[in-house]
Amino acid sequence: MANIVAIVGRPNVGKSTFFNRLIEKREAIMDDESGVTRDRHYGYAEWTGHFFTVIDTGGYVTGSEDKFESQIRKQVKLAIDEASAVIFLVDIRDGVTGMDKDFANVLRTSKKPLFIAANKTDTPDKTMLANEFYELGLEAEIFPVSAENGSGTGELLDELVKTFETPGVEDPNAGIPKISILGRPNVGKSSLINALLGEERSIVTDEAGTTRDSIHSHYKMYNKHFILIDTAGIRKKGKVRDDIEFYSVLRSLRALEESDVVIIVIDAQQGMESQDVNLISLAERQGKGIVIMINKWDLIEKDSKTAEKFKQDMMERLAPIDYIPMIFASVLEKQRIFQVVEKAMQVFENKSKKIPTSKLNDILLREIQHNPPASVRGKFVQIKYVTQVNARYPSFAFFTNMPQFIMESYERFLENKIRDHFDFEGVPVRLIFKKK
Ligand code: GDP
Ligand code: GDP
Repeated sequence: MANIVAIVGRPNVGKSTFFNRLIEKREAIMDDESGVTRDRHYGYAEWTGHFFTVIDTGGYVTGSEDKFESQIRKQVKLAIDEASAVIFLVDIRDGVTGMDKDFANVLRTSKKPLFIAANKTDTPDKTMLANEFYELGLEAEIFPVSAENGSGTGELLDELVKTFETPGVEDPNAGIPKISILGRPNVGKSSLINALLGEERSIVTDEAGTTRDSIHSHYKMYNKHFILIDTAGIRKKGKVRDDIEFYSVLRSLRALEESDVVIIVIDAQQGMESQDVNLISLAERQGKGIVIMINKWDLIEKDSKTAEKFKQDMMERLAPIDYIPMIFASVLEKQRIFQVVEKAMQVFENKSKKIPTSKLNDILLREIQHNPPASVRGKFVQIKYVTQVNARYPSFAFFTNMPQFIMESYERFLENKIRDHFDFEGVPVRLIFKKK
């Protein structure tokens, strides 16, 4: 079982800063472009040979219209349900607030190991202030820390990892494509998974995912190994509707974060809805490969233009995202279900692709010469060099004399040229402009 550490606390105490600090070392290996804001609340961390998963619980529940009270309830519930240990973050500069007390009251019911991190203790002379938080009356040691400069976090982590029952594992499936199947209820996700797993009997193992909210099935097709992340099959019993909704959204978000490629399943009779669009734009922002499967195509009365029209409608809703492959399928009639997986594997290949710098410059600099950026206030904007940087998804750095004057329309032009010349179907690409 994996070690899972949840970070809880009211808004602005520094949860996401702290989260980023914990996962920073590993992220740096995966993504060498710093300064890019990430929309992630879930990551892997390591401390003195102990591996663990970190959840920024605040990140999952903010942004809804919920009242503070229910936000606290949800954050803490998530933490208590999922985590092997909980870090409760407070702000040393504000001292004990009413909301901290509300958190403390709910946390008191948890039996998980609890640590209080008195954050924003940026200098040693402030450490005494941390004692104020004993007033919360929790059975937890208090650690003065600074998420911003990292001080004090080592002492906290030393104690935290002592509570782990296992050393944990470094992402055991690194390198194997992870594909998740997402979509609204009843679109046919479980049917798809059953059909796939039923056809091929070469499943290696069924194991719980990083959290209990997903099942990872190792799967082999045409001699290619991949992992299907299945969130559909798990239903929590005996919860009220609000909770089911909460957990199902949460599951999708987490499966998304864990995946390399997502297959978004849409019911042909219902078409694409705003929830699907939201999920797709979130996947794009996280740099995930995306495939759209329009399922239940058997139920649609069609002529030769139906699919094309359907596609156009979806393109309009997704604009400007225009690179996602769409496959019309029917799980019921076993039509094109393997093509969906094949496409997802192709998208994974596209996502992992590295274009040699010389080839990139040969082709793109010629395009740029034919169609240079507009000059600004009488100054020529020049792009001198382009290279694909190491990152979790295709990212291209353009070196220019005036990065601030590259217009959005020109950025789109460059992206289109990259897509014209190199196949990045299904994959977001990122353009970065650097001063040179
Ligand atoms: P969250 O809402 O709990 O996720 O909080 P954020 O991580 O977004 O941080 C809220 C604000 O506190 C931001 O402006 C951070 O830069 C700042 N902050 C976070 N950690 C520290 C710290 O250790 N010291 C100081 N001085 N500021 C911090
Ligand atoms: P999930 O909630 O997304 O996992 O959806 P299910 O797999 O449980 O499917 C919901 C319903 O749609 C079930 O009654 C399925 O039999 C039906 N269904 C799934 N795929 C198809 C399909 O391609 N065509 C038709 N007609 N029905 C389907």
